[in-house]
Amino acid sequence: MAGNGNDSPAIGIDLGTTYSCVAVWKHNRTEIIPNDQGNRTTPSCVAFANKERLIGDGSNNQQATNPANTVFDANRLIGRRFSDSKVQEDIKLWPFKVIQGSDDTPKIVVTYKGEKKEFMAEEISSMILGKMKETAEAYLGKVVKDAVITVPAYFNDSQRQATKDAGTIAGLNVIRMINEPTAAAIAYGLDNKSDIVGKINVLIFDLGGWNFDVSIMTIEEGGVFEVKAVAGDTHLGGEDFDNRMVDHCVLEFKSRRWNKDLTGNQRALGRLRFACEKAKRILSCANQSSIELDSLHDGIDLYMKFTQAKFIELNMDLFKSSIKTLETCLSDAKMKKSCIDHVILVGGSTRIPKVQRMLLEYFNGRELCKSVNPDEAVAYGAAVLASKLSGNTEKSVQDVGLHDVTPLSLGVGVKGHRFGVVIPRNTQIPTSKSRIYVTASDNQSEVGIVVYQGERSKCTDNHLLGQFIVSGIPPAPKGVSKIMVYFEIDANGILTVTVVITSTGKIEKLTINDANRRLSKEVIEKMVSDAEKYKLEDQEFEKKARAYNKLEDCVYTMKNKIKEYNIKKREPSETMKEMEKAIAETSKWLGDNHDAPFAELDLKKMHLEFVCKPLFRYKNKVAEYN
Ligand code: AMP
Repeated sequence: MAGNGNDSPAIGIDLGTTYSCVAVWKHNRTEIIPNDQGNRTTPSCVAFANKERLIGDGSNNQQATNPANTVFDANRLIGRRFSDSKVQEDIKLWPFKVIQGSDDTPKIVVTYKGEKKEFMAEEISSMILGKMKETAEAYLGKVVKDAVITVPAYFNDSQRQATKDAGTIAGLNVIRMINEPTAAAIAYGLDNKSDIVGKINVLIFDLGGWNFDVSIMTIEEGGVFEVKAVAGDTHLGGEDFDNRMVDHCVLEFKSRRWNKDLTGNQRALGRLRFACEKAKRILSCANQSSIELDSLHDGIDLYMKFTQAKFIELNMDLFKSSIKTLETCLSDAKMKKSCIDHVILVGGSTRIPKVQRMLLEYFNGRELCKSVNPDEAVAYGAAVLASKLSGNTEKSVQDVGLHDVTPLSLGVGVKGHRFGVVIPRNTQIPTSKSRIYVTASDNQSEVGIVVYQGERSKCTDNHLLGQFIVSGIPPAPKGVSKIMVYFEIDANGILTVTVVITSTGKIEKLTINDANRRLSKEVIEKMVSDAEKYKLEDQEFEKKARAYNKLEDCVYTMKNKIKEYNIKKREPSETMKEMEKAIAETSKWLGDNHDAPFAELDLKKMHLEFVCKPLFRYKNKVAEYN
């Protein structure tokens, strides 16, 4: 990489709720890195099976057969409390179990290798990030440490902190976190550099699997990106559309045709969700698709046709709500829709024709920009920023300047349970702002500072980030002693709160701890070592599986060799007997020892090869087994 003097390149990771994508800046352009299956995006999913842990493509296939131990949607849990109403809504839909851990932390419960295990969402996300890191390392042939990770624009401080922690657990040095739409705009800006004259306004419409973000940005000729406003819904996306389809099928199954309730059958629901998602994708390019599931429940098959019209009818309110959010974003940016020069589509769900038609209508027929692949744009932009931050001196990368904004207002609880905003939403970051508050009673010696994030005027309706008590206020009549509350947001969108008693100069800082979901150093360290442990276990499993296959192939080859050359007639009967005995014994041993350790498998193979050495005197026509 030019100029960074570092042979470990920084990567960009789009840690999506449903799919993740990794990219790197190389040879003066961004390269999307395919995974070990050759796919450019990887399902954000981890399956825990009896013998192994599968991350990405392999795990996705387990959703239908092993739903209780196949974990997805970690992004919907990360940085949230178990009692959060959104978490409670999601739990009802997930086939895996989530319980309330200490401190109201949600814990995912699975059975792995026959044992019950509990994981935090950060750990699941770290497994996915680890997979993306490995994908990049395999492609680049180098160890990768530094990464820019993207988050939905509407993620609050806790969710950002938790995502950063997930990166640390995965062994990554998170050099920056940026909002997904901002990353997409960078991708768009670089891809259309020559067409940008002066300053243009772009609207990024990002409808993914679970999150919906709208951002309005200006891009200046030369590459300065300024976010004007963001709006969104952390609970709107493709999986909601899938759920509507699932609910419809469940209803059909129950009330109309078969009179059977399959809501308690998790395996059937998993298979149905999988089929609905597939049918939905087909409806993006055909008027009709079908769901065909043999023996779905109680031996009954489900065969149903799905038309585009039905799909639209089931989801119209959700599509309309996305347009409402878009209008909020325009009004926050103080722009009319005619001010928008380009509408950029990001996220797999923007492929839905009805969504595109509604956007076209809203913008009076203005063409929608699809020049950057909606599944890859976010990782693309993150990789550009990663390269810039790691010192790449190439002009196109250095020119990228970024002015992001804070997605939600930040402030403190004040008298009367009101929310006193210190930094309003859509303020450009990094930023710092302060407010002065006075004591509310005579001789008040301490004050509680409760920090919230959100847009509601009653403080408790917002998201609680943390709280602390500032003591040592000198005795004085009510309203005399002053307390300065200082908020600082860094380039990652992460907040530090400092409080100063103005008369004494005493300073208190908000230590980010359990109260706002930040994991302690000790917990992170434990998770890092667990992540390493699971990785080693995975490697051990693979090594064992490969040795098992090799021994199986060896038995097969030896058996064939005997047959092929009619060796029975050529070799002395004693040698023959010994070889046949060894082959039969090894074959039986294999059947009885599926879990044998690698060394034992290797020894067995060496032994069989040794006994069957005479076979190699004959020309080798049978398949090689190594
Ligand atoms: P993303 O989070 O951007 O990867 O988007 C994933 C979501 O896009 C999932 O809910 C997919 O089902 C959905 N999706 C992907 N391709 C299509 C398509 N062709 N039509 C409709 N939805 C799609």
